[in-house]
Amino acid sequence: MIEPFAQSCGTLVLSLVGEPGLHLPMSDLTCPLCTMNDVLDHPEKYECMTCGHEWEKEEQARVVKDAHGNVLENGDVVQMVKDLKLKGTSKVLKSGMKSKPIRLVDGDHEIDCKMDGMSIALKALFVKKVQK
Ligand SMILES: [Zn+2]
Repeated sequence: MIEPFAQSCGTLVLSLVGEPGLHLPMSDLTCPLCTMNDVLDHPEKYECMTCGHEWEKEEQARVVKDAHGNVLENGDVVQMVKDLKLKGTSKVLKSGMKSKPIRLVDGDHEIDCKMDGMSIALKALFVKKVQK
């Protein structure tokens, strides 16, 4: 008689697991190899309890895109794609104006940078990345 695969495999893997990770039996996460959802959550990776497969966690970082859909990163230089009146001032940020290297921040104005000597918060859809 042949034992059910899942049962015998599971017992085998359990005995091999050394470092205890956070056990996620109710997780929606499934193993890309065997599609079982008995997955261990390690700081840097996931580990399948059923077949022993390990895989990297995906970066959950927020992606900020400019007016043309290019992904922006800290330190990028951006350029205005349209004239924009600076809120609360009479200043206008002219189309084509370049920033100092930007910093990405949380909130609906994703970009924190200096432009024309002023510290400003910008929405990513009003700028484009300057190709280095
Ligand atoms: Zn698996």
